[in-house]
Amino acid sequence: MNAPELHHARPVKPGTSAGETIPGERSPCARHLRLLAEFSHALQSAATLAEALQRFDEHLPRLFHTIGGAIYLFGSGSSLRRGCAWGRAPLPPASSGAALQALRASDDPGQKRRGSVWLPLQVNGQVEGLLGLACAAAEADALMRSAYTAATVEQIALVIGNMKSRDALREQSIRDPLTGLYNRRYLEESLQRELLRAVRLTRRRVGLAVLMIDVDHFKRFNDEHGHEAGDIVLAAIGSRLRRVVRASDIASRFGGEEFVVVLPEVTPARVLVRAEQVRSAIEALRLVHHGEPLPPVTVSVGAAMYPHHGDSVESLLRAADHALYGAKRDGRNQVRCVTAEELHDAGSRLAAAAESAARAHSGSA
Ligand code: GH3
Ligand code: MG
Ligand code: MG
Repeated sequence: MNAPELHHARPVKPGTSAGETIPGERSPCARHLRLLAEFSHALQSAATLAEALQRFDEHLPRLFHTIGGAIYLFGSGSSLRRGCAWGRAPLPPASSGAALQALRASDDPGQKRRGSVWLPLQVNGQVEGLLGLACAAAEADALMRSAYTAATVEQIALVIGNMKSRDALREQSIRDPLTGLYNRRYLEESLQRELLRAVRLTRRRVGLAVLMIDVDHFKRFNDEHGHEAGDIVLAAIGSRLRRVVRASDIASRFGGEEFVVVLPEVTPARVLVRAEQVRSAIEALRLVHHGEPLPPVTVSVGAAMYPHHGDSVESLLRAADHALYGAKRDGRNQVRCVTAEELHDAGSRLAAAAESAARAHSGSA
């Protein structure tokens, strides 16, 4: 969503009023400059909005000598989320509408008497969020008019704007636009990372599973209903997969009508259950194209598990692909591991690996 525009807010203008004082400060200028420089320096190492918000948490309490404060950011719909907060932060506005109201009313003497000041975090005319400061009633006016406040607010807004654009670009580079799932490059990178983690977790008797999913007879579906209808199916599978997996799972479009889901920290007993949930969730999709219902589509799923079926990205994907081939050969619309016995063996291998890791751990302790 585009951040709402604010026409009536009164952003404080940066100025250089000589001799300006900030409540609680005696000789502010040098100290202010130093704090601002430290703040800018700390922000240079922030690569994402989340990291920038952490820096805000560390620096804003020192930058503003107020009772408390908070940053609220506009999210999708009318939601507002707290970016950071310190001290006795002013209560959050109930919605983005209420937030805009708070900004418009910010010069209202009643609000200042209550000791809350709301300032827009504005970038290129768009309000990305708001900074709320709680202060002594007598200080509210000076705080609002201060050039120092203005410079700090401008810096915060600029960082939020930059980080949001950076995050959006990064998100575009790792997502497949049709399905909204992660793309193959991201999948391979994160599978590598998850494998390294799984090696450390072996002591907890959980492994990592890879599900390779392929739409059945999709060429025929395209031939009969058209490529556009095929795209609708792929997009719907994408959103169904995103809903059916856990937040820690990685659901990706591997290419064409093939998908890969990585399930970190799963026991061998759960793998086929989770794979079957994925298969049946896709079979249950009911889609309409140009007002006409489309026939249900089915998928075949091949499952492979670390450590039994492979211990590298390539070997695990190959094993899952092999299992998928088995599912296709045996009639499609089904889940297959390499064999049931091998999945059972995966459990024994995990147990053995867990024991040896525990022995190594107690030996090194
Ligand atoms: P199987 O059950 O053996 O997997 O049969 P299949 O027809 O699904 O497999 P095949 O590999 O022969 O065909 C895959 C089809 O997927 C052909 C291709 O047109 C279609 N496809 C791949 N990517 C897209 C896409 O982005 N959109 C649409 N609509 N179709 C796609
Ligand atoms: Mg295929
Ligand atoms: Mg196919």
